[in-house]
Amino acid sequence: MDTQLPDDIQLLQRSVRGFVDDVLAPCAKEIEEKDDIPRALITKMGEAGLFGIGHEEALGGQGFGKLGYCVAVEQLARANASLWNVVGGSAGLCGTAISVGGPDDVRHRYLPDLFSGRRVGAYALSEPGAGSDAGSLKTAARRDGDAYVIDGAKTFITNAPIADVFVIFANAAPATGSKGITAFVVERGAKGLEIGPNDEKMGLHGSTTAQLYFSGLRVDVTQRVGNEGDGFKIALRTLDFGRLGLAAHSVGAAQHLLEASVEHAKTRVQFGTPIGANQAIQWMLADAATEIHAARLMVYDAASRADRGERITDRAAMAKLFATEMLGRVADAAVQIHGGMGYMRELWIERAYRDARITRIYEGTSEIQRVVIAGALLADS
Ligand SMILES: Cc1cc2nc3c(=O)[nH]c(=O)nc-3n(C[C@H](O)[C@H](O)[C@H](O)COP(=O)(O)OP(=O)(O)OC[C@H]3O[C@@H](n4cnc5c(N)ncnc54)[C@H](O)[C@@H]3O)c2cc1C
Repeated sequence: MDTQLPDDIQLLQRSVRGFVDDVLAPCAKEIEEKDDIPRALITKMGEAGLFGIGHEEALGGQGFGKLGYCVAVEQLARANASLWNVVGGSAGLCGTAISVGGPDDVRHRYLPDLFSGRRVGAYALSEPGAGSDAGSLKTAARRDGDAYVIDGAKTFITNAPIADVFVIFANAAPATGSKGITAFVVERGAKGLEIGPNDEKMGLHGSTTAQLYFSGLRVDVTQRVGNEGDGFKIALRTLDFGRLGLAAHSVGAAQHLLEASVEHAKTRVQFGTPIGANQAIQWMLADAATEIHAARLMVYDAASRADRGERITDRAAMAKLFATEMLGRVADAAVQIHGGMGYMRELWIERAYRDARITRIYEGTSEIQRVVIAGALLADS
C-alpha cells in the first residue's frame, strides 16, 4: 500500500482543514451549548462540498472516492462530532443506500440534493426490538397495487427531526425473514409518517436523533430502492462505508485530542517542570500517537481497497472496531493529562470525551464488529 496521499487528496485535506478552522471550529462551543446546528451552517457545509466528497461526480458528488472521503472526515472531526454526524447520517448513510441500491431514476431524483447539502437525509434501519439484530426488524410493507403500505416504528434515527428524505427499511415478506426486507425513499411530510421529538443524549449535542412512526404510510413502487427483498443487502453494504467513515472520524477526533494533550504537557508546569517531563505523561502520549497511526493506516487501507472495487466488510469492521476503541482510550488519556481542566465544560476536551462514547455503539457495537470479523474468518477457513 502506498502511504503517501495523492496530490489531489492532499489538496483536499488542506482545503477541508481551512474550512474547519475558519468556519466550523468557531461555532463548536455554541452548537454544544444550544444543542442546535443552524440550518444555514449545514447549507454552508454543503456549498463547501462536504456532503459529496466520496461520491461519484455523475450523481452530484465530488469524485474523491472513499480515500478522499476518509481524509476529509478526519479533518471534519476536529470541529465538533455533531457536524460530521449530520454528514454521516445524510450523504454517508441515506445517500449511500440510494447509491448502492438504485435504480437510476431514484438516484437522480435524490442524490444531487443530498450530495450538495440542499436536502438532509436519514437512514432508518434500527427499531425498538431490532438493534444489533437488525435483520429481525418488524416494520411491515404490504403491497397494494402500484404502492406499498408501511406500518411500524424506527428508533434512534440520526437527523430525523431535520431530514427532508428518509431511507426506510421494511419487510415485504416477513415469512422469509431478512430476505423480505425492502428499502424505500420517503419524503418529509408524507401522510402516515410521524417524527418523534429530538432525543436527549449524553453527547453529540446539536446532532438530532428521533423515533419514526409509520401508520398506513403509502409509498409508490417508484420510490423503492433496489428490488423487493434486496433491502438487507443494501443496508449491510451501506454500513460497510458508514463504518469506514466512523473509523476515519475516530482517527481525526483522536488526533485533535492528542495535539491538545501534547500542548498541555509542554505548557502546564507542576513541581517546577512541565508535566510532559514525567515519563507517566510521556507514555500516555506515545501510546496515543502509536494507536492513532495504526488506526489511520487501517482506515486508508480499507478506503483504498474500496476505491479499487474490493468488498471491505471485514476491513471496515476491523477499522471501526480498532479506531473507535482507540478513540475511547485517547479521550480518556486526554482528560487525565488535562487534570481538573479536562473535566470542565470550559474546555472542549470534556465534550470530546462524551462524544467519543457513541462511536463504539452505533453502526454496530464493538461486539457486533467482532461478530462480523469472526464470521469472515470462519467462512474463509
Ligand atoms: C445517537 C445514536 C444515533 C443512531 N443513529 C442511527 C441511525 O441513523 N439509523 C439507524 O438505523 N440506527 C441508528 N442508531 C441505532 C444504533 O445503530 C443501535 O443503537 C446499535 O446498533 C445497537 O443496537 P441497540 O441499541 O438495540 O443495542 P442492543 O442490540 O440491544 O445491544 C445491547 C448490548 O448487547 C450486545 N450484543 C447484542 N447482540 C450481541 C451478540 N450477538 N454478541 C455479543 N454482544 C451482543 C451489544 O453489543 C450491546 O453491548 C443510533 C443510535 C444512537 C444511540
